[in-house]
Amino acid sequence: MRKPFLIGCLLVFTLSMKAQNTGSQADTAWRSIYRETATRINDLVHTKLDVRFDYDKSWMYGKAWITLKPHFYATDSLLLDAKGMDISKVAMVKGGSSTPLKYTYDGMMLNINLGHTYKGGEEYTVNIEYTSKPNELKVKGSAAITDAKGLYFINPRGEDKDKPAQIWTQGETEANSVWFPTIDKPNQRCTDEIIMTVPDKYVTLSNGLLVSQHKNADGTRTDDWKMDLPHAPYLFFMGVGDYAVIKDSYKGKDVAYYVEKEYAPVARKIFGLTPEMIAFYSRITGVDYVWPKYDQVVGRDYVSGAMENTTATLHQESAQQDARELVDGNGWEEVIAHELFHQWFGDLVTTESWSNITLNESFANYSETLWNDYKHGKDAGDAQNFNDMQGYLQSHSESKDLVRFHYADKEDVFDKVSYEKGGRILHMLRNYVGDSAFFKALNLYLVTNKFKSAEAQNLRLAMEEVSGRDLNWFFNQWYYGNGNPQADISYNYDDAAGKVTVTIKQTQPGDKTFRLPLAIDVYSGGQMQRYPVWVTEREQGFTFPYTKHPDLVNVDGDKVMLWTKKDDKTLDNYVFQYKYAGKYLDRREAIDFAIKKADDPKALDLLKLAVKDPYFGLRNYTLTKLKDLKNATVKTAMEPLLADIAKSDKKSTVRAAAIGLLGELGKDEYKPLFIKALSDSSYSVAGEGLEALAHLDAGGALAQARTLTKQPMKGKLAATVSELLIEGGTEDDFDIVAGNFGQLPLSDAKFEALQPFADFLGKVKNTDKVKKGVDMIIAFREAIPAAYKNQTDPYINNMILKSIITKKTGGLGSTPAFQDQIDYIKLKIAGPAGK
Ligand SMILES: [Zn+2]
Repeated sequence: MRKPFLIGCLLVFTLSMKAQNTGSQADTAWRSIYRETATRINDLVHTKLDVRFDYDKSWMYGKAWITLKPHFYATDSLLLDAKGMDISKVAMVKGGSSTPLKYTYDGMMLNINLGHTYKGGEEYTVNIEYTSKPNELKVKGSAAITDAKGLYFINPRGEDKDKPAQIWTQGETEANSVWFPTIDKPNQRCTDEIIMTVPDKYVTLSNGLLVSQHKNADGTRTDDWKMDLPHAPYLFFMGVGDYAVIKDSYKGKDVAYYVEKEYAPVARKIFGLTPEMIAFYSRITGVDYVWPKYDQVVGRDYVSGAMENTTATLHQESAQQDARELVDGNGWEEVIAHELFHQWFGDLVTTESWSNITLNESFANYSETLWNDYKHGKDAGDAQNFNDMQGYLQSHSESKDLVRFHYADKEDVFDKVSYEKGGRILHMLRNYVGDSAFFKALNLYLVTNKFKSAEAQNLRLAMEEVSGRDLNWFFNQWYYGNGNPQADISYNYDDAAGKVTVTIKQTQPGDKTFRLPLAIDVYSGGQMQRYPVWVTEREQGFTFPYTKHPDLVNVDGDKVMLWTKKDDKTLDNYVFQYKYAGKYLDRREAIDFAIKKADDPKALDLLKLAVKDPYFGLRNYTLTKLKDLKNATVKTAMEPLLADIAKSDKKSTVRAAAIGLLGELGKDEYKPLFIKALSDSSYSVAGEGLEALAHLDAGGALAQARTLTKQPMKGKLAATVSELLIEGGTEDDFDIVAGNFGQLPLSDAKFEALQPFADFLGKVKNTDKVKKGVDMIIAFREAIPAAYKNQTDPYINNMILKSIITKKTGGLGSTPAFQDQIDYIKLKIAGPAGK
């Protein structure tokens, strides 16, 4: 699963809200609860479902035939997860006959008396008839659940004209038991058959293969999906909607992309690398893709980023990018890679408990690095690796173990530790055992544990078996321990004696000392000598000989270490490092240092190289750093290069960044360049062009913005147009501004667009328009997953919505003309019920 992108801005926001939060005692009782792996009393064998949907009520009518067997010990009872259902029948099925069974049901668990004691391994089948009511689901009388409904009806009655009617499901962690009775634990798995009856105009999607379809007299159609390989209940999936289905294939297996019809022409540009990814992951794991097919579908209002349902991955609507967005690159490629790799790590071998979720997520996360490295080159892979490492380090999660037996809620383990830190730990493990042992061990782990659940020790055993090395120390340190090293690196050169001493100090808080195998590279006299060392002490010195004073001593030469560091290098060292050590991170560190020393001509020379770096990611990075720099001399020195880059760089995002920088100079000579940018196919180039133009000629830019609104737009261009219309436009621009806000999916970008949109509504006089705009803000507020709502609701109510009221009163007390609008906003702040 990929988490929603809201996390980024919400973290920042949470910190600011925490300051206002007074005195509530945090509940820490969970710290003493050991989260054990679920006991297996009965095991699932097969699940057959026959379901119909009630679009009017948002209910599902289901019949289930569940085949199970006692795991080892004999038992006469069966406990099933069945959340918020109406149960109308529970019976034992044997041959052709059906015998009613006694049961109790508390709205969450269905406790069935089997009426007979079954021996370990002895199969039996129960038949259950039920109604799922996901929107009415309550947890122990509390508020309705918004983000663990399992089954989602999107615009089922067609009331929203801008939104298609869809049904999709989301199981992880234990929400699929809202739509079918099961043992909803990751250490269960079974084959399945799902028979769905839907309006004939819709297509359906589920796990496995579509084995039959027939039309019914009442305008419905019945589709029969079968999955003959066992998988965990949280990976079961149903999707129903009006989709275009674009077909591809991998070794004769169907690979298909389900997108809304207007995205059919670009579906291959978004998803078309999937067969190559399947081939790549099959090759590196040595396990050919095992499932019968692979489909991907895009769901509206999806509560997470994406989900790896077996053979039927669900993506958030951000996946649907238009042709002009794709000019800047496919922003969803890593997510596609991530969910696909789960088909091996997660779906084929499944974590046995949420405590071990990193067995699913660290691999899926690391697959993004592996794919980038393979497809786009080593720099792209290293950039992915480094960005994810920063994601973990900036999350301040030092206290959390990777394998976590203590947590408050099972959803909590889906965090930057299980994902980003876990991925970096795999990268270090690979570096330590070597590529060939690493991938051979992955193969052994997959082959040994396929169609089973596993814990982190299974991974250790596979790595040890192949490498012949004891890895307890590594797993104890990184999997069952927390934190990361903070290093202070210094150098002492003794030219007379011809030796350099590198001192590495571990400065992290506490008394934990990390054990770190790493390489120290000494560059001297045109040669590089590598010294592999073990850092095992809090402070440790390593001495190496030289004949000529070294140009550079490079600690962690492979740049794999998960740490923060202070590195006592000189500008000369960094200039050398940029040119000759040459890895992505070597160059990036040199750029960072040069930006700080930008007044030094040597640093400026380095920056001039960096804006022409062979890897576009570093060209972009340098330009971004230059934009933040308040140093006119440096900007003037870079100007001729920037003008050249703005015109001729191969990458649109780099051209856009250069235009952004030139715009800040406010020089008329670049006006033709900015106007030309407006017609660029890339939204980012056109958007930066428009912003740059606004610096020179605000009226002209506003006129251009209005002309540009005649065609559809997204991204930087839509944001800049909105900005200009909000600032200088009138209420006649409402439809454009509201349209740009409305089309943003549930994302950080939408969160950031709230305030400018509210500022605009503050200026609008027409009551219908204001109400419409406020409704859009409310719709966004209500779509935010429950886990964040206690932070976002106060912000949206007290900051965003109240800021509109303040504008309406304008400091003169409430104006009668706007009283209607003010009352309406106040009603909306009070709650969604005030509809
Ligand atoms: Zn994932």
